[in-house]
Amino acid sequence: MKKKFLAMLMASVMVLGLAACGGSKDAPAEGDTASGDLPTVGVLIYKYDDTYISTVRNSLQAALDGKAIVEMQDGKGDQATQNDQLDVMISKGVDVLCVNMVDAKAASGVVEKASAAGIPTIFFNREPDTEVIKSYDKACFIGTNAIDAGKMQGDIIKDLWDAHPEYDLNGDGKVQYVMFQGEPDNPEAIARTQYSVEQATANGLTMEQVGETQVCNWDTETAQKAMEAMLAANEGKIELVIANNDGMAIGCVAALSNIGYNTGAEGAPFIPVIGVDATDAAKDAIAKGQMSATVLQDGDAMGKAIAAAALNAANGAEFLDGTEYTYDETGIAVRIPYAPYTGE
Ligand code: CA
Repeated sequence: MKKKFLAMLMASVMVLGLAACGGSKDAPAEGDTASGDLPTVGVLIYKYDDTYISTVRNSLQAALDGKAIVEMQDGKGDQATQNDQLDVMISKGVDVLCVNMVDAKAASGVVEKASAAGIPTIFFNREPDTEVIKSYDKACFIGTNAIDAGKMQGDIIKDLWDAHPEYDLNGDGKVQYVMFQGEPDNPEAIARTQYSVEQATANGLTMEQVGETQVCNWDTETAQKAMEAMLAANEGKIELVIANNDGMAIGCVAALSNIGYNTGAEGAPFIPVIGVDATDAAKDAIAKGQMSATVLQDGDAMGKAIAAAALNAANGAEFLDGTEYTYDETGIAVRIPYAPYTGE
């Protein structure tokens, strides 16, 4: 009798012990398989072939190492492909979804399926409508504040113009600029395009656009071709290149250096080019004197924030429990701050 009582006691202690340890999966009990009680985090990436997003997913993967099984898929820039990948992840029963939408407007479909399956969902980087995220009590967004990157570019432009009067090639006191936009309907692209110029204007500069806004879908090669055409039509009339991301900025630098500008060589003609992201290629171009500045979008910090929220959700806690992160005024979005980068 005594032995049986002890066994029962042991069993209840073990149950209590497991309950108390429910929040931590770091120390699997003896006899567990290596991955037996690790949660599964499903990650959908809009496309692997994006330098900034690569930083985010490497950071996310590293932060989840040993704490979760990570299932990651490349949407290859196609929403239909990503929808299929979502279906597979839901059928596999992942514990939490981290979704980098191909098309942010398609997020309502993701919310519909994830909420039906009861899977907590963290959208990141490409921002769905706030109302769509709010429609599911187990959804949140981790990103940046699109307006901030544009404003930071506007501040950089003001600093450049104050430091370099020679950039005003025609001496009219105005800034003749060309604009390279990301995708036409992308909220970040639209905000960066608008607020960079608005902030420069608020800083006291007179901004005058040369030609039409060049919509180049964040892409280096597309931007290079567009810049070659812009230069062919307006050489000598362009005093500044503003790009929504470094990928396009680097394409513009390539077009300029092909005709002898921005080569980094002493005395070579130079037109300031500014981007966003602080990719390695952009930092390198800035170091070589081929590009002026960029705005640091801290992909490493974003990956860590997504990982922290994902582990919480996978373990049944609220996304931000016990973290350093807080929601902005929407109550559902975490904003990772930007910083200017001029290589100094
Ligand atoms: Ca001018």
